[in-house]
Amino acid sequence: MLTTTERRPAIRSLRGWAIHVLQEAGAIHECEEHGWARDRADPHARQRAVDVARQDPPDGISPDEAIAEVRNVLDSLGDTCPECLPE
Ligand SMILES: [Zn+2]
Repeated sequence: MLTTTERRPAIRSLRGWAIHVLQEAGAIHECEEHGWARDRADPHARQRAVDVARQDPPDGISPDEAIAEVRNVLDSLGDTCPECLPE
């Protein structure tokens, strides 16, 4: 599980990094029951995540690539947990 206590968690993948940045910025959050990441549809939080990607991309990744991945993750997430959907 990702934690917020370590400054530099191990980056296993660019996508994992992007999800971490989005969580730290408050742009996404996980369903407490199922752990699915959900888009909070908060434009200010999204902008914070993009700013982090621009200013502090992972080692070996350009700011443009980091920003693109953050946007890519946002596009791939829904705003509801697929397991919480009403029947
Ligand atoms: Zn759920």
